[in-house]
Amino acid sequence: MATVIHNAVIATVDDRDTVHYDAAIAIEADRIAAIGPNADILARYPVAERIDGAGKLVMPGFANIHTHLTMTLARGVFEDLSPPHKPPFSGGLSPIPLPDLNPDERRAMAQLGALEALRSGTTLALEDSNDVDDYAEALAETGMRFLLGERAYDRVGTSIGDPAPFRLDRALGQRHLRTIEDTFRQWNGTADGRLRVAVSAWAPDMCSPELLRDLRALQRQLGTWATIHLNQIWGRGRGRQGASQPAAHRVPGRARLPARPADLRPLPLHGIG
Ligand SMILES: [Zn+2]
Repeated sequence: MATVIHNAVIATVDDRDTVHYDAAIAIEADRIAAIGPNADILARYPVAERIDGAGKLVMPGFANIHTHLTMTLARGVFEDLSPPHKPPFSGGLSPIPLPDLNPDERRAMAQLGALEALRSGTTLALEDSNDVDDYAEALAETGMRFLLGERAYDRVGTSIGDPAPFRLDRALGQRHLRTIEDTFRQWNGTADGRLRVAVSAWAPDMCSPELLRDLRALQRQLGTWATIHLNQIWGRGRGRQGASQPAAHRVPGRARLPARPADLRPLPLHGIG
């Protein structure tokens, strides 16, 4: 059965940014069937479920282009790690007062974050995490659309934003590459196309130049999006500068990103304007 929301303001965000005032919108199944004056739409859909939209705005959903839904529990603790607080932080973004979560708890956090997103009018989110396979199905059940960024890195012994020596674990990066590919094969295009899988490089200071190149190659192979944390916090920028540090303390920087970043179809994170 169709649903009609009437007496509403309807922002179409079409090419002309048309806004309909005191108008109605009809929805059939998962499609917008008609938009127009209240009387016209109500006459065309006499048996539709009616929702009074008086005082309400009907508009396309928001897109959250970066989130970590499994960290919903940590909401509010990151502010203390951002400017005006100064680096170096002890161990990058750690210690974060967040307990270890088992897969069920991570799934619950992801569902809670997704439901809160829906409540705010968000219908599309880019989720950046490791092991999105654990909760991709739960996210699909929310009805939202997701770009699932499965993450790769090969720096170990520390975390993002820490100007410490770069300890490389190349095998770890290779395992992540395989996980990204597996996740893509399993989930990309599922849930009627609402789930897409992207390639995620954690951050320039958490990925060797070799891994970044491998990620770009994988992105090209899969024909998908890529995402990366850039310029998120002070520590990483300081680590990148590195000129006054011994070579062993320098971390890969933006200058070592693939030669033509535009080719990456990147979605910059956290620093978006
Ligand atoms: Zn992030």
